[in-house]
Amino acid sequence: MTDEIPHATGDSGPGLAAVVLGGTIDVSDFPKPGIVFKDLMPFFADGRAFRTAVDGIVAHHGPGSFDVVAGVEARGFVVAAAIAYAAGVGVVPVRKAGKLPRQALSASYELEYGEATLEVHEDAFIAGQRVLVVDDVLATGGTAAAALELVERAGGTVAGFTVLMELAFLKGRERLSPRTVHALLTV
Ligand code: AMP
Repeated sequence: MTDEIPHATGDSGPGLAAVVLGGTIDVSDFPKPGIVFKDLMPFFADGRAFRTAVDGIVAHHGPGSFDVVAGVEARGFVVAAAIAYAAGVGVVPVRKAGKLPRQALSASYELEYGEATLEVHEDAFIAGQRVLVVDDVLATGGTAAAALELVERAGGTVAGFTVLMELAFLKGRERLSPRTVHALLTV
């Protein structure tokens, strides 16, 4: 931990929490007035931080504990692909409405700053396949709830849910209960 980041906390300890926090820029009033957007682009662009975080996520769940990684469009794709590669498994994109070319299942939900629909191909998972679901930020939990629901409706078994950052004041973790949330950084 550094002097500049004294109080980083998260489910994998203060070191990993600080790694995420150190690559985050708060952008006020984006995409709407009143929202503080957590810009993780510096974290993604920092190879050491990114690898440390990805390795930490794989270690937390255990490399043999999931068969595939599902990432939520769009920043979740970045994390999901890296985890999948590190663990030697495949990746399934959970996409925004209208992007998938074949028959898809869909779930609509409310965002911290709007409304959206997520979709996954109905044949995305082999029945019972253990799926690690990942996204960048957990805010109100609507996105995560929809993604987790879609994984199960498509026949997968949720093996875990990880985010780089959780905005605790929006109570996404409580909304997802009794599911377990793994957040590298809680703010
Ligand atoms: P929610 O459904 O409210 O939990 O919102 C989570 C989704 O919206 C994630 O896919 C995030 O990428 C995005 N998101 C919501 N709030 C923020 C925020 N303050 N900063 C960055 N991304 C956010």
